[in-house]
Amino acid sequence: MDQKELAKKVKLLMMDVDGTLSDGRFFVLPDGTALKSFDVKDGTGIIFAGLAGIRTAIISGKKSEAVKKRVEELHVDDYFEGVRDKTAPLFQLLEKYELTKEEVAYIGDDIGDAEVMGMVGFSAAVGDAHPLIKRISHYIAKRYGGRGAVRELIDFILDAQGKWQEIFTKLKNSDNADEIMRKINS
Ligand SMILES: [Mg+2]
Repeated sequence: MDQKELAKKVKLLMMDVDGTLSDGRFFVLPDGTALKSFDVKDGTGIIFAGLAGIRTAIISGKKSEAVKKRVEELHVDDYFEGVRDKTAPLFQLLEKYELTKEEVAYIGDDIGDAEVMGMVGFSAAVGDAHPLIKRISHYIAKRYGGRGAVRELIDFILDAQGKWQEIFTKLKNSDNADEIMRKINS
């Protein structure tokens, strides 16, 4: 089945953090706090996915206050932190939303993502993912982790599902259109 057919089925998008939503680099302050950078385009894509009725979940192997803040801003449906086995959140979410694995997309960058990526219906790698991760992916983004790879994948899914009109209509008619636009522009 081609990428577009697989993308049509997606009802839940799971995303790794380090190296996927971030570029994988972090700056450590003297008190031990780690700073990461996120791409605003990815954030906008996550908001669009939500408007299109696609659930979003962020899975991180680490715990980070910065990530938690970003997750809250973007109204991500589910956030799992400090996760060792990334298949565990998948099974939880399949049950919670009564989905099949074919209805789940996952984007990641490294070996820790491989097992869960092998289970979902539509797996994607960021442009600078580990070669093995690229090899097992249905979709390889041109953009790198933390540099719009997630947005590229979301755009591909929304295109495949023909959701743009619905998103623009929702943006226009939404009572909180101003609030959404503020988030998109922040
Ligand atoms: Mg990663």
